[in-house]
Amino acid sequence: MTTFHVLGFPRVGPNRELKFSQERYWRGEVTEAELLDVAKSLRETNWKNQAAANADYVAVGDFTFYDHILDLQVATGAIPARFGFDSQNLTLAQYFQLARGNKDQFAIEMTKWFDTNYHYLVPEFHKNTVFKANAKHYVQQLQEAQALGLKAKPTIVGPVSFLYLGKEKGQEAFNRLDLLPKLLPVYVEILNELVKAGAEWIQIDEPALAVDLSQEWVDAVKASYETLSKAVNAKLLLATYFGSVADHADLLKALPVAGLHIDLVRAPEQLAAFENYDKVLSAGVIDGRNIWCANLNKVLDTLEPLKAKLGDRLWIAPSCSLLHTPYDLSVEKELDAELASWLAFTLQKVQELNVLKTALNEGRPAVATELKASADAAQARASSARIHRAEVAKRLAELPANADQRQSPFEKRIEAQQAWLNLPLLPTTTIGSFPQTLEIRQARAAFKKGALSLEDYTAAMKKEIAHVVKVQEELDIDIPVHGEAERNDMVEYFGELLDGYAFTKFGWVQSYGSRCVKPPIIYGDVVRPEPMTVSWSSYAQTLTKRPMKGMLTGPVTMLQWSFVRNDIPRSEVCKQIGLALNDEVRDLEKAGIKVIQIDEPAIREGLPLRRADWDNYLAWATEAFRLTSYGIEDSTQIHTHMCYSEFNDILPAIAAMDADVITIETSRSDMELLDAFVKFKYPNDIGPGVYDIHSPRVPTEAEIEHLLRKALEVIPAKRLWVNPDCGLKTRAWPETTAALKVMVDVAKKLRAELNA
Ligand code: GLN
Ligand code: ZN
Repeated sequence: MTTFHVLGFPRVGPNRELKFSQERYWRGEVTEAELLDVAKSLRETNWKNQAAANADYVAVGDFTFYDHILDLQVATGAIPARFGFDSQNLTLAQYFQLARGNKDQFAIEMTKWFDTNYHYLVPEFHKNTVFKANAKHYVQQLQEAQALGLKAKPTIVGPVSFLYLGKEKGQEAFNRLDLLPKLLPVYVEILNELVKAGAEWIQIDEPALAVDLSQEWVDAVKASYETLSKAVNAKLLLATYFGSVADHADLLKALPVAGLHIDLVRAPEQLAAFENYDKVLSAGVIDGRNIWCANLNKVLDTLEPLKAKLGDRLWIAPSCSLLHTPYDLSVEKELDAELASWLAFTLQKVQELNVLKTALNEGRPAVATELKASADAAQARASSARIHRAEVAKRLAELPANADQRQSPFEKRIEAQQAWLNLPLLPTTTIGSFPQTLEIRQARAAFKKGALSLEDYTAAMKKEIAHVVKVQEELDIDIPVHGEAERNDMVEYFGELLDGYAFTKFGWVQSYGSRCVKPPIIYGDVVRPEPMTVSWSSYAQTLTKRPMKGMLTGPVTMLQWSFVRNDIPRSEVCKQIGLALNDEVRDLEKAGIKVIQIDEPAIREGLPLRRADWDNYLAWATEAFRLTSYGIEDSTQIHTHMCYSEFNDILPAIAAMDADVITIETSRSDMELLDAFVKFKYPNDIGPGVYDIHSPRVPTEAEIEHLLRKALEVIPAKRLWVNPDCGLKTRAWPETTAALKVMVDVAKKLRAELNA
């Protein structure tokens, strides 16, 4: 019999119940007991859904109130000592303080979980970190599931990935891997607590195996699993995902664990390296990272021969935890039936595994109806006219080879731009959005609901634009913007105006803690049916003599923050979006908006996990960006903006985007980025952010001056712009004008100095 198991389930609940309950608890509106109740019932729902789909083991320990790596910090006693908390007796209130900070301590830093949009809390390791086991989190969930009569498999992130994901802190330099000998006994203790509570199998995730690991980390895997297997009397299932681990195949196959999980969606080719494995092989065949139905017959074509080899040692599973997919498609009543028939969310995915399991155990005829439906859906999707639009393919195919090159090199373009822009040294601008006040959000919501007419909505937005333009005039900002009042979200706004995009109503996935995002779905060829921003920007331009900056979201960011179709390469989707945006850029240019910013905050986070794949990604990503400017005049000035990441290691690629001006987040790191410019001479204009917009605090003149002087040391004055770190939409008005005034004053002061 083939075993079907789940690596992990979404935690926030079918309707984000956990989020709402947590936030109420944080506001003091519900008691801890009420929150605990909500959590318990969500776990029960999750397990029942897994059991209902015929899963042989439900996942336990995957539920968390905030983050599974924070749970692991508590379980191993490795919470930051700076909080002064006792990990053995941590209260829920303290747990949330670790995640969100308190009046004395900043929160534990957060960063992206591999190449997903989920964020984990980064463990802070010190040379003398003392580990202490506290298995409660895992044991309690195991017992709860058992009490429901379910067979459960605890899941926990393994010691190597745990150390790998952390950071070294403290004065003394050390290697966090040196903590492993102290950490392993604590893992042994935790795992043995689970054995005592009745765990037969324990899933230990080592996702770090899918990134580039140096030899010492690979050796640590060997040492860890030799120790754990010897000391723990349970069957250990070592789980890998997000990429191929074929380069470690010999090592992994020789480990004394009872089973291995591999991701056959991201890296189907790695199967060849593992199909002769002599223990349990868990095949991750259903995509845990995307929302498309599987073609079940095709999956069976892979699984059946594997079953012939492995017999009952074949397990099946989603490729990774389902935490990255929305909960349930069946509640999406507004999606059209055709599109819906191509999609599978968490609950649909476990049903797919149910069908696969039955087919493997009883033969395909036992699930003939389901298999036919799956084949029909795949067939329909492959041939749908909504997906493949001949004109899109033709346009891409017929692009001239130099379509991604501006007419002239930067030195010449910037002259043509300066000729009409007439900007002073250290020109000032902002990143695009201005405060999204309650009025703006209410007007947008009313318009969406149909409670506000298009005329009234347009009038409300125009009023806002007029206000924003006036403020910038008064502040004497050289390149004003219209303020983006009409945009709820920088990707959703454009997605809704492009063909090939669809939106769900409840398709939430956890981003961090109680925060969820609802990524749009790119299902077909992308086309821009009509201008998207021209009327707003043109209206803004009528209000001022200063050159108005048009504002678009770039193709890589549009791609990165969406669920992307899996029937053509991402690179091609990205180029399609680039060309759709090119239509907009040309229309803006025609309308006289000749400074245009194309935001790419997500370009860095799209980097593949393995360095060997970086060049290829950066080549097509920067090409897609450059395609947005296909055929425009030299005198049109293209800006781009980046944030959320450190960009030091991809500066050449950023230069290859060939934007005339780049504005980039730097203030939070005291312009650390600029150090990289000492080595790499960034060729075009650049505006390193001079103050942090994430805080309501108004920067002092001295702070901004300090940053700008630092910038002037490595960037020629005539290349340097002055701007905040990012958009201002999350800020309130008073601090916004106050901060911008300080910024402009400092720019003028230094400008006078430079001109003297
Ligand atoms: N133009 C966008 C804004 O100002 C940029 C947002 C971003 O960088 N994430 O809001
Ligand atoms: Zn930004």
